[in-house]
Amino acid sequence: MRQWPKTRARFLRAKEVMPWGVTSNFRYWGDDQTIVVSRGEGPYIYDLDGNRYIDYRLGYGPVILGHGHPAVVERVSQAIRDGVIFAATTEWEIRAAERIIRMTGVDMVRFSNSGTEATMHALRIARAYTGREKVIKFEGQYHGHHDYLLFSTAMALRQPMGSRRHPIPVVASSGIPRVIADLIITLPFNDFEAVERTVKAKWGDIAAIIVEPMLGNSAAIMPHPEFLPFLRRLCDEYGIVLIFDEVKTGFRIARGGAQEFFGVRADLVTYAKAMGNGFPISAIGGKREIMMTIEPGAVAHAGTYNGNVVGTAAADATLEILETTDALERAAQAGERLMKGISEILTEAGIPHAVSGHPNMFSFLLNFEGTPRDHRDTMSSDIELYAEIGLACYERGVMFEVDPREPWFTSAAHTPEVVDETLNRFADAVRAVLRK
Ligand code: PMP
Repeated sequence: MRQWPKTRARFLRAKEVMPWGVTSNFRYWGDDQTIVVSRGEGPYIYDLDGNRYIDYRLGYGPVILGHGHPAVVERVSQAIRDGVIFAATTEWEIRAAERIIRMTGVDMVRFSNSGTEATMHALRIARAYTGREKVIKFEGQYHGHHDYLLFSTAMALRQPMGSRRHPIPVVASSGIPRVIADLIITLPFNDFEAVERTVKAKWGDIAAIIVEPMLGNSAAIMPHPEFLPFLRRLCDEYGIVLIFDEVKTGFRIARGGAQEFFGVRADLVTYAKAMGNGFPISAIGGKREIMMTIEPGAVAHAGTYNGNVVGTAAADATLEILETTDALERAAQAGERLMKGISEILTEAGIPHAVSGHPNMFSFLLNFEGTPRDHRDTMSSDIELYAEIGLACYERGVMFEVDPREPWFTSAAHTPEVVDETLNRFADAVRAVLRK
């Protein structure tokens, strides 16, 4: 049986020096469960006691090539010897921008450091471009921790969400000014009727529709095949900026992300996570006309660390590998094997379930029948049972978020052997939970 003496002791110390012992609320799993990691390698992470975990959180998605990928580490190490930040354009930025443009088809990009910054700036650009202020977002979708979009996310405060027909924006944190709620309209994902009704009534106020093209923050839920084309048509008709938040899907579900995978082009797209294999970098890309709304002295986009050498050299190396090798296909093979294997184990255990999403980013809902279409479906599944199985897996060295709202992520380092080991442990965990 695994033991965690060093990890637990260090975590107690962490709690004294950082609120809850973590630097993002999502990382707190409870006093007895929160992990302190010493290192990662390929598909594995290790805690302070040397326990090994097969990792499917992958830093909440970025680590598409595996932890500590040598080619990425090497390029960054070489690049930073010449300094990391100059308040000036660098060759690394131009190279990374060219790669993104080639892979995704956006016309231009600007860099920042996190998904949050990218969506915050995308919203500002959309507002400046249209001269309108409101934004439509979808329930269960997460666009970062700035105030403007932190409503009706999976972790929203426990307040009434309203009915599907009349949803109420639910703020996800104290400390967000109440006036911001007036700028946001929350609707269920995949709900054609709600979007059409809202846009027809309020289009003159609506600057943008921001959407995770595949819901990836309240389970991994595919758009209805007609949903994204429908959003595209509505936005064209009513002069609304369509923003795809591809922070999770970008460079993960296809080389060109969700735009390529679903065959729909947005006006603005936000990227982060997989583009740097875990190094901090993000980007906004989009149509030239809209990107050129950014204007010195008129429409602000700034950031001391934007385009720094660490992130842009990491993106240069990561994107090169994603573009020229079968890394994404290998991640998908792992995902397919897992989706199938997990479903078989759950069927054998007699647990009704729905496995959904893309092999590189998938989820499963327990005690759930049918195909999930939105956050409300996710919330109706058996979240407690999922957490129990998740913790039993964690004790057996398989780590995924103990909450079905966060998908499983795969990487090119998850070989068939790693997947088979995962499935054996998963089956063992399910048996142990059902025996209780
Ligand atoms: N958008 C999406 C779709 C995300 O999943 C996330 C993070 N999980 C963000 C934005 C925010 O990114 P970051 O945590 O890098 O600020």
